[in-house]
Amino acid sequence: MIYKRSSDLFAAAKKVIPGGVNSPVRAFNAVGGEPLFIREAKGAYLYDEDGNRYIDYINSWGPLILGHAYEPVVNAVVEKAKKGTSFGTPTEIETQIAELAVSMVPNIDKIRFVNSGTEACMSAVRLARGFKNREKIIKFSGCYHGHSDSFLIQAGSGAVTFGSPNSPGVTQGTAKDTLLANYNDLESVENLLNANKGEIACIILEPIAGNMGCIPPKKGFLEGLRELCNEHEVLLIFDEVMTGFRLAKGGAQELTGVDADIVCFGKVIGGGLPVGAFAARHEIMDYLAPTGPVYQAGTLSGNPLAMAAGLAMLTELNRSAEIYSSLHDKTVYLHKGIEKVLSGNNIPHTINRKGSMISVHFSDEPVVDFASAARANNDTFKVFFHGMLENGIYIAPSAFETWFLTDALTYEDLDATIAAVEKVSKSL
Ligand SMILES: *Cc1c(COP(=O)(O)O)cnc(C)c1O
Repeated sequence: MIYKRSSDLFAAAKKVIPGGVNSPVRAFNAVGGEPLFIREAKGAYLYDEDGNRYIDYINSWGPLILGHAYEPVVNAVVEKAKKGTSFGTPTEIETQIAELAVSMVPNIDKIRFVNSGTEACMSAVRLARGFKNREKIIKFSGCYHGHSDSFLIQAGSGAVTFGSPNSPGVTQGTAKDTLLANYNDLESVENLLNANKGEIACIILEPIAGNMGCIPPKKGFLEGLRELCNEHEVLLIFDEVMTGFRLAKGGAQELTGVDADIVCFGKVIGGGLPVGAFAARHEIMDYLAPTGPVYQAGTLSGNPLAMAAGLAMLTELNRSAEIYSSLHDKTVYLHKGIEKVLSGNNIPHTINRKGSMISVHFSDEPVVDFASAARANNDTFKVFFHGMLENGIYIAPSAFETWFLTDALTYEDLDATIAAVEKVSKSL
């Protein structure tokens, strides 16, 4: 493939944007080479500025579960835009999407909309701290909850990819209130709870982790966390920015039957526009301003264009129960296909999957937490990534990212992907 125009655009971008990108994982630092500049996309395909076509497994890092430029979403945004793009007043559509979200997700009464997953998690933790009047939080190594200070302690994906799990600029004072546990390891959580009795406001986690590759919770892990939270009177926050509306209408709570106290959303809930949200039962949500003392705000929060995109997306997902089984079947098909090829070529690997999230780790041990994810062979991943790209398959440029399937993918696309894995396997 020829990447001439992308390369020229990257050179120009680097002069005026740090690293040429507005979010670090978009650069190819973890895999080498230069990022592609995308001109447009439709359905399951991306088209770069040189005219190359790719089958896309990033889908804007998760939001586009029904494919690019999905018509109901595009139409909703265009129609809204004609009537004004922002008023800074309440609008009816905010209540419409809130009612729909609350009806789809178990165990929540009220929802507040923000502009990103980062904002959602940051605000959820402030709310938890305010509500419990406690300062410390527990997070898990390898889980990513956005780039706010409290979370940049052994965060997954981008932060890990760049080898700066503790970013300069995050103060010691902030860092000391974030306690780290190991994913899928209840004992590590129990030890922290016992050593900090009465001081922990909340435990936040990705109920199905997706930022160290896809790592599902072991049987009993989420249930155990729920019990520990009850016992220690700590709030359980599910960061469902990735899994919300992707794994099921009601997200991980529906899928696992475990109730969270606060749930964070992003990605799919905005249909590809900048939206985040956090939700809980009345007594917790009413602790937020203007009814309660915990402050949280946003000039463009609940923006009409973003709400229109989100409402159109959730409406589609709510309408047809088959979307999730269709996505599941496609992901299983891809899993089996890749598994067969890698095994046939004697390439050590572990594939993790849940719903429409899947990741290929070049490791021959089970990948169950950050440490085991980090032990996988990154050199193999680099060769794999570039080989796939050269064969028209666009996966995330980091071994710590999950592949996201869109329902726009056809079985021909999946076969083409498996065929590319077969080709690339010869050079691994
Ligand atoms: C993407 C992500 C975030 C951050 O969302 P942004 O919209 O990028 O700020 C937070 N938590 C999880 C689990 C995510 O995957």
